[in-house]
Formats: sequence, C-alpha cells, structure tokens
Amino acid sequence: MSHEGIRYVSKDDQAREEHETRPLPRIAITPEKVRVLLSEGKGLEIDWQDGHRSAWSFAWLRDGCPCATCVEERKNEGRNIGQPKAKSGDLLPMYKPPAKPASANAVGRYALQFNWQDGHSSGIYSWEYLRRNCQCAECRFAATEPDGVQKH
Ligand SMILES: [Zn+2]
Ligand SMILES: [Zn+2]
Repeated sequence: MSHEGIRYVSKDDQAREEHETRPLPRIAITPEKVRVLLSEGKGLEIDWQDGHRSAWSFAWLRDGCPCATCVEERKNEGRNIGQPKAKSGDLLPMYKPPAKPASANAVGRYALQFNWQDGHSSGIYSWEYLRRNCQCAECRFAATEPDGVQKH
C-alpha cells in the first residue's frame, strides 16, 4: 500500500516548494564557465549566462548530494540540502577530512557528477539543481524570504 498520495506540508515547506518550482529562465541554468577547483580542494564555481556567479564548497556539495539515498537520509534526519550531519556529543569526534571528490565528470550537457573520496558517486548535480541551491548571499536571502521582504 502506497502512502505517496498523503503529504503533510508545513507553511515553510510550502513556501520553499513554491520557490523551488518557480521556473527559471534558460540563461539562468546554462553555465558559461564551470570551474571544479579540485587541486585547491575549494569547490565548484559556475558563471551563468545571465551573468550570475555561484560557488559551492565541496562539503556543501557532498551534504547536498541529490541522489535518492542521500535525499532520503536528509529527510529522515531533518536536514536541509547541504546541511552537515549532526555530530554526536558523547563520543569523541573522529577526525573526518573535509569532503573532496577524486574526480568530476560532465553528464551530458545538463549536469555534473562527482566521484567522492568516500566512494559515493551516485549524485547527478544538474545545472538547475545547482542554480536553485546557489549559495551566494543574494540567493540564500531570496530562499529564506520568499516574499523578498526583510524581517527584523
Ligand atoms: Zn548521494
Ligand atoms: Zn546566487
């Protein structure tokens, strides 16, 4: 029996969903330049055709992996896209090197795929997914305040 038809949507989720489903112009999801800063270990930078520039750290990209397993895991743990796993307080934290891919590949003309050093590689990061999760101050502000009104 499937429960897929039943959804409980909070106001926040709904606002987020509206933001996520708003169509983006083609030039906003077409990269002009893609830089994977592998040797620096920094992350991914994209210049879009509409003139916008986005940057993501590898840590964010790993925690924001769009594959079904990671989406499910985040949902179960109540984490947002790109939000790191909570550290357990009562155990000595094990040193975890920051996430870094061993390599990155283009997937057709629409996405990137990373081969993470932890062996994970099933996430396909489409241009649209990346643009919708742009981490610049302007876009993050727009994501948290869907009406664009600043609250004090
Ligand atoms: Zn994943
Ligand atoms: Zn942005």
